[in-house]
Amino acid sequence: MKKTLRPESLMMSHGFKPELSEGSIKPPIFLTSTFVFKTAEEGKAFFELAYGIRQKEQEEELGLIYSRINNPNLQILEERLCLWDKTDDCAIFESGMSAISTVFLEFLKPGDLLVYSSPTYGGTDHFIHDFLDLIGIHSIGVTVNDSKEDIIKRISDSGLSPKLGLVYLETPANPTNDLFNISMFREIADHFQTKDRHIPLAVDNTYMGPIWCSPTDHGADLVIYSATKFIGGHSDLIAGAVLGSTGLMGRLKVMRTFLGNMASPHTCWLLLRSLETLKVRMEQQTKNAQLVAKALITHPKVKKVNFLGLLSERDKNHELFMRQYSSPGTMISFELYGGEKEAFACLNKMKLVKLAVSLGSTESLAQHPASMTHIGIKPESRQKLGITESLIRLSVGIEHHEDLIADLFQAIED
Ligand SMILES: *Cc1c(COP(=O)(O)O)cnc(C)c1O
Repeated sequence: MKKTLRPESLMMSHGFKPELSEGSIKPPIFLTSTFVFKTAEEGKAFFELAYGIRQKEQEEELGLIYSRINNPNLQILEERLCLWDKTDDCAIFESGMSAISTVFLEFLKPGDLLVYSSPTYGGTDHFIHDFLDLIGIHSIGVTVNDSKEDIIKRISDSGLSPKLGLVYLETPANPTNDLFNISMFREIADHFQTKDRHIPLAVDNTYMGPIWCSPTDHGADLVIYSATKFIGGHSDLIAGAVLGSTGLMGRLKVMRTFLGNMASPHTCWLLLRSLETLKVRMEQQTKNAQLVAKALITHPKVKKVNFLGLLSERDKNHELFMRQYSSPGTMISFELYGGEKEAFACLNKMKLVKLAVSLGSTESLAQHPASMTHIGIKPESRQKLGITESLIRLSVGIEHHEDLIADLFQAIED
């Protein structure tokens, strides 16, 4: 019996036929806007599939038409990314925000209700409050402290439960590493579904995926990534991805065709290169993060370290962490004694660790959430979420851990 190869074994070749490209071992970059049809009949057959006018015959594949609809680099990348999350289909976008906003635009209509986890990525939060709100899409934000019963009651009390269109989660929460229970939100979505209306659950898996968490195993319908982060992994591109079943992805891809926000062939080619090393990069990053977090808690000027690898068995999140994730990841946030002054002094003294937003890259990055990524959140809410003035967020890269620890310690001193 043929043993199924693991995703890391397929990342160098899956979905690419060298014989179609002069035998080149790697896919060339297909810098072309359009594709020549062999015959008019062939062109017609491709368009019928692209516009959903008829179903695919067995073994039939959608032919290449026009690079806003499909392109070899885009397609090979989509097929490879599906292997990690074990989904039918994937759509690559020109940014993570583009992936997220296209999901909202496809699955929510004016009058609908969105339930989302708070805090969420700043751009997502802005889109919900400064755009969806204006076009009459209602939203309810829920936190890790809300129980299943509380959330069901809030949705019912809003009077909008028949209009619940999408449940959207981002977990672990940024920058505090609080955890949302994906299967609990599946139950909440199912509580409001009807015979002819399934309520999709979408999970932004940027922080832990695709290696350490597969949201579809816990009941998610759509998995979303900012591919700018781990998947790209080298701080040299912006991209996004959504994965899910053929039915939902078919809808999303039609929306993408008409918004025209697919990634370019060049970006897809860079991502294909990145995917080959995704697993080894993430594994090295998490090894480093565990050593860095353990060192940070011993420093007398460090008040608190948020890192999933430091959860004790008594922690309320421990059981959920073990069930939902296979690694503590690479994201650490830590508080110093003091306030903004102490945090800034530390950030300004780091040399190896770069002062920049973003995460998941080969180089370690640090930033100050209260004045940077989370500046848009009201100070009282920030305090409640644990985003204090002395909190620093750290994304750990692949440098030598001893060099990282030495750099952080010299920056924290005096
Ligand atoms: C960065 C990020 C995004 C946005 O992605 P872009 O590629 O910057 O558009 C969305 N969600 C999370 C969790 C992120 O970290």
